[in-house]
Amino acid sequence: MQRKRIYRFAPGNAEGRSVWKELLGGKGANLAEMAKLGIPVPPGFTITTEVCGDYLRENRLPDGLLSEVRAALTWLEQQTGKRFGDPHNPLLVSVRSGAPKSMPGMMDTVLDLGLNDETVRGLAVRSQSERFAFDAYRRLLAMFGDVVLGIAHAKFEQPLMEARRVCATQAGLSVPTQDELLARLVPDSSLEAEHLAGVVSAYKKLIQQHGKTFPDSPMAQLEQAVSAVFHSWNNPRAQLYRKLEGIPEHWGTAVNVQAMVFGNLGEASATGVAFTRDPSTGERRFFGEWLPNAQGEDVVAGVRTPRPLAKRADSAGLALEEVMPERYGQLVEIQHKLEQHFRDMQDLEFTIEEGKLYLLQTRDGKRSARAAVRIAVEMVAEGLLHEDEALLRVAPERLQELLFPTVDPRQPVAPLARGLAASPGAVSGSVVFTADAAERWVQAGKQVVLVRTETSPEDLRGMRVAAGIVTARGGATSHAAVVARGMGCPCVAGCSSLEIDEEAGQCRAHGADSRLLATLREGDLITLDGATGDVFLGEVAMVAAELGPEMRTLLGWAQKVCRLQVRANADTPVQAQQALDFGADGIGLCRTEHMFFDKERITAVREMILASEVSARARALDKLLPFQTEDFVGLFRVMAGRPVTMRLLDPPLHEFLPKEQAQLQELAVNTGMTVEALRRRVSELFEFNPMLGHRGVRLAIAYPEIAAMQVRAILRAACRVQQEGCPVTPEIMVPLVLGQGELRAMHDIIQRVAQEVFESEGGSVRFEVGTMIELPRAALLADEIAECAEFFSFGTNDLTQTTLGLSRDDSGRFLPLYVEKGFLKDDPFVTLDVQGVGQLIRAAVEKGRRVRPGLALGICGEHGGDPRTIDFCEAVGLTYVSCSPFRIPVARLAAAQAAVRRAQVN
Ligand code: PEP
Ligand code: MG
Repeated sequence: MQRKRIYRFAPGNAEGRSVWKELLGGKGANLAEMAKLGIPVPPGFTITTEVCGDYLRENRLPDGLLSEVRAALTWLEQQTGKRFGDPHNPLLVSVRSGAPKSMPGMMDTVLDLGLNDETVRGLAVRSQSERFAFDAYRRLLAMFGDVVLGIAHAKFEQPLMEARRVCATQAGLSVPTQDELLARLVPDSSLEAEHLAGVVSAYKKLIQQHGKTFPDSPMAQLEQAVSAVFHSWNNPRAQLYRKLEGIPEHWGTAVNVQAMVFGNLGEASATGVAFTRDPSTGERRFFGEWLPNAQGEDVVAGVRTPRPLAKRADSAGLALEEVMPERYGQLVEIQHKLEQHFRDMQDLEFTIEEGKLYLLQTRDGKRSARAAVRIAVEMVAEGLLHEDEALLRVAPERLQELLFPTVDPRQPVAPLARGLAASPGAVSGSVVFTADAAERWVQAGKQVVLVRTETSPEDLRGMRVAAGIVTARGGATSHAAVVARGMGCPCVAGCSSLEIDEEAGQCRAHGADSRLLATLREGDLITLDGATGDVFLGEVAMVAAELGPEMRTLLGWAQKVCRLQVRANADTPVQAQQALDFGADGIGLCRTEHMFFDKERITAVREMILASEVSARARALDKLLPFQTEDFVGLFRVMAGRPVTMRLLDPPLHEFLPKEQAQLQELAVNTGMTVEALRRRVSELFEFNPMLGHRGVRLAIAYPEIAAMQVRAILRAACRVQQEGCPVTPEIMVPLVLGQGELRAMHDIIQRVAQEVFESEGGSVRFEVGTMIELPRAALLADEIAECAEFFSFGTNDLTQTTLGLSRDDSGRFLPLYVEKGFLKDDPFVTLDVQGVGQLIRAAVEKGRRVRPGLALGICGEHGGDPRTIDFCEAVGLTYVSCSPFRIPVARLAAAQAAVRRAQVN
């Protein structure tokens, strides 16, 4: 049976449904839903994403599609009472892309299709405005020329400038040479019909000069435009966006063909963009921007500064609420209905054509992380969502943004400029003006702020690497704001006091009285705060982020449903406290060697390493013992009874040794050894491949006294803190074992030292001994190892390194290529290679629990804070994940989501 390829919609009636997003794209599916709800949408039809797949395979529209399009057009003509190509009453249509997941501005759109030299006259008569008709015609030619015929958009700017020049001369104005100034002096709206007719002729000539043809036949226009929109699925910026957002390549875009409605038919017409809640803060208020007598692209492109929808103290006379109160009221009702229906914050586009309101689009609105959390939490209070649903509404990764710093409000520095707080987070960086420069500077290791008049999808490359974005034009719904918010990149938009000349590579900042405050050039340092909209010269003091009340509520719900414990990788009491503040359930990894690097201790550590006899080493270790004991006392006190997993010394010894002459000399004085002898010892310890060398438990096997000192410190500290009345749960962890033998040897040492300590301290503590699983052999022999281990912690950094045979330190040079070519799905050091390393973990879990059913299992490699890895950890039944303190909220939410999803499946 022939698949249905076209779905129609008109108010009160639609063939599609909002849940068919994969087939109809987000826009098409939601237009259908709005139509069903009786919301006024211009009638139209959606060509499915499956047709896009056919098109991309065959590089042509599939057989028979055009006759189906013709039939749909006939239906559309009946709906509108106009005819496509009718010289007296022409139907004009828009052709828009619509992917299953929103890809704002990444693919192409053509508006005003159906115009030619004849129908433009008809449109002029019908609209009683020749100006309007030629304006639409020139827009069509420019868009068609760019999108369908492949002539660079910038080429269409020149004839428009020429028309502005003519217009200015006729008005007796002195004509500036700079295009930017001319465009400000003569905006599009002041061009008359004759000027626009001139632009139309110039555009046609331009198209001819490029050896291309603009088809007069509306049907040919439509056919080519539909093909071009399908084709745009594969343009480079769409490909890049899909990669960044993890959107599958095979989805394809739908195409929506819809009757045009015009927001530029005079003062009773308008267009705008709205959010049902504030996308930056999440506050429940209808929020958005509009422009009278304009087309939608004018608002989004930020060409004219838009006006607010709702009345504000400073909006006198400008707000839609004041200018068109009835339409505003209708819009408020519709937005409420849509939010209740979709049970999520909506982002709407609307047009008012001669007093009649139309909704052009609704979709789940992109929002800042702060807004995402607040909206999810408030929607539970409003009865729109259950707690579990709210938990799934916030992408765990995005919580990171709430942990970003903001500019310290107590510091007295005045901002250089102020714009819209478009995407929260504060950041300092070197100014760059182009995407190329951004990439160049970042490659050279600099942090950059991309400063542009406005952004377009072409700038995505630069926005992706920039630490912050500042634009001079455009509102909270501009491309820069929407994309930055989506990426979690701090952004200040619409900073109108900045005059940016990208070509000259400079930006002039003017004060309120137009006085020049500063001229910024590439490389100058600025700071922006996307939560306040301020831009500062130079680097400015910041304050750390804080968990707000909504975030605490959400994390509280997460804690309730979470099965996995979330522990922290923390080495100091300060980090432990930070982890606890973020809700950690314990410490999953204390890398004890980090305690050795402290300036005071390094000398004793070096003495210990350099000692050639056991007695000398013991003396050096005795110096370290009080330090280590003190460290562990601090950790136990902070963690107050929660588990603290302390790993015995792991890195190869030569890492601690001095390499520079001055350091060698200093050490020679301290130890009484000659510089020469020291050098010899350093070279004795040299390893070609230290990652696979004398590290981990192998050190303890060769130098058991080091491990003994550490165990002594751990248990002494535990006894002392317990004696203070504070409970302790110490867990001693042995790194890098390759089988049961090493663990047995360690047990002997640990038990002996424990006995000694308990005798000398006059009491005992309960403690556990476990091991890291970091080598494939250990994973495969996990049953034997479990006989001697009370817990396993998967050290997935090393397990990845040893399973894939990829050096943790060096593979960065070629790994991106492997990911790009699809040999590996993701960077395996970021997201666990479930296909490979995951098999070893599964095997170890199964073998370990078979021998010891109550075996506690954790993960403490960098993957422990990665949401996708956490999903895997839930699935294989680990006990806990452990990650850096700042990632605790991310991991907690990811763990909760994994639990909710599992419950949904079961
Ligand atoms: C690991 O290998 O995953 C681990 C946590 O240990 P380290 O990163 O210290 O080698
Ligand atoms: Mg390791």
